[in-house]
Formats: sequence, C-alpha cells, structure tokens
Amino acid sequence: MHSIYSDGTKTPEQLVALAKENAVQLISITDHDIVEGIGPMRLAARNAGLDFVTGIEVSAGFADKPIHVVGLGFDENNPELLKQLKDTQDKRKQRAVEIGQKLENLGFTGIAQGVYTKVSNPALVSRSHFAAWLLEKGFAKSSNEAFTRWLNQGTPGYVPIEKISVPRAVELILNAGGIPVLAHPGRYKLEDWKLQELINLFKDSGGKAIEVTTGSHNEKQTQHILEIARRQDWYASTGSDYHYDASRAKPGLQGDLPKDLKPVWLLLENKIESHLKN
Ligand code: AMP
Ligand code: MN
Repeated sequence: MHSIYSDGTKTPEQLVALAKENAVQLISITDHDIVEGIGPMRLAARNAGLDFVTGIEVSAGFADKPIHVVGLGFDENNPELLKQLKDTQDKRKQRAVEIGQKLENLGFTGIAQGVYTKVSNPALVSRSHFAAWLLEKGFAKSSNEAFTRWLNQGTPGYVPIEKISVPRAVELILNAGGIPVLAHPGRYKLEDWKLQELINLFKDSGGKAIEVTTGSHNEKQTQHILEIARRQDWYASTGSDYHYDASRAKPGLQGDLPKDLKPVWLLLENKIESHLKN
C-alpha cells in the first residue's frame, strides 16, 4: 500500500482501517523510495492489532522501463539504503522541475508550482502528482489518461530519470536484511522473452519472490504471472498496491494467492512484528 508519504492519499491510520474492514491480517506500507511512513504504520498496526512487516517499493530500471522492486522485512535504518533513497528523492525533485517546465511550455500554466498542492510529502514527488493536477484542472478525465497523454515515455511531458539497476535494488534490500520481491511483473509491457530475462536477472541477483495477485494486475496478467510462479517454483507475494479509491483494489481485495503457491510470508517469519489479536 502507498500512503501520503509518497503518492497515496491515505494516512497509515486510514490504510489500517481499510485493511481491517477487509479482514487483512498482515500489512506492509510500500511507499516509493521512502521509509518515512514505516514508523507511523507500525504504530497504527500495533494499535489496531494487525501483523506488520516493513516495506518499500524501490524504483529501478530495465530495458528502458520503470521496474519496481519491493523490499519486505528489512531494517529501515540501514545507512546504505537510506543514502540511495535520498539520492533517488533528489533526482525526483530535479525531474519534477523539468516536467513542470515542459508542461508549462505546452500551455499548462501554473502546473510547475501548482503540482505542489498535490504533493503530500515534499521529499517525494511523483509523476502521479502531475497527473492529479491535470485531473483536477479538467485536462484529463482520469489519472491514466494524464499519464498516457502527457507523462509517459513518448509523450510531450516525459522527462527520463536516472534509475538504479534491478540487481542494485535487490542488493540494497538484501544488505538491509530484507526479502526482495519483483512487483507486478505482468504490468511492464515486456515481450515474453524479455520478461523472462528480467525474472532471470532478478533471481540471479538474489531476488526471492514475485508478486502474483496485486491491484496492479488485471485478470490476464495475474494468470500469466501465476503460471510462471508455478512453473519456476517462485515464492509468491500478494498486495493491493492501493494508492487511493479510484486506483486499483482496496486493501485486501486484490484476490488471494492460490493455495498451491508458496507464500512470501514463509520467508518473513522472523521479520513479522506480530500484533494479531485472537
Ligand atoms: P514515478 O515513480 O514518479 O515515475 O511515477 C510512477 C507512478 O505513477 C507509478 O508507481 C504509479 O503509481 C503511477 N502510474 C504509472 N502509470 C500510470 C497510469 N497509466 N495510470 C495511473 N497511474 C500510473
Ligand atoms: Mn509499483
């Protein structure tokens, strides 16, 4: 789940309440490139009696695509990880200035400053915040439309950002004591052979699990990744990838993991902070 500490709209307390409504037992906050929400989420989980594990979604790159590597059960004070995250946050800020300039030049007057009315944590600026401004001003009917017209690669507002490699993202998570999970692999629009190349690279660098049921996959994508997880005997992860109500599944409603898969929490046993009340 994403929170106001990155590009979500809910506080950790609100996320916990949503998760509880849907009978979730184990939660993690996986904000983009930032650990600030982990402390508040841990507290909210403890207060609500939910099991908790630390989480993050690290931005990486492969074949010119943005790839997300989730880390679970890591030490959120690990200096090497924090140093890299700070660097990524700074690059995001610089990119935001450039995106703002490009969109102003295209005639979206006020967006360069206005986007910050959408940013909830100044440390973490995302393209999603530009999408939210465009949506609010009526220039797009959905966040997805804002991305496909103005923000994605190949559109006039696109600004590339320097990304770390997938092996480096995996290494950072492992060095911080965590379990690296390849997030929503069905979403990357890679040809089958290229997706397999990504999965092999992820595994060879120490990746441990792939996400199968997620709010970021449609039914077909879930089936595709489910087959890969079965055939290649991956540990499987599940998560809503919840950002806000109009996006993706609500916490706990992304679909359960099929029972024959090895769930990622088997790898997290000594990392889960248990608060479940019986
Ligand atoms: P960034 O990390 O700043 O480049 O922004 C990427 C984030 O924007 C993703 O993690 C998603 O949350 C969101 N996003 C990407 N593509 C779309 C889309 N087509 N529609 C809505 N949200 C998107
Ligand atoms: Mn993601």
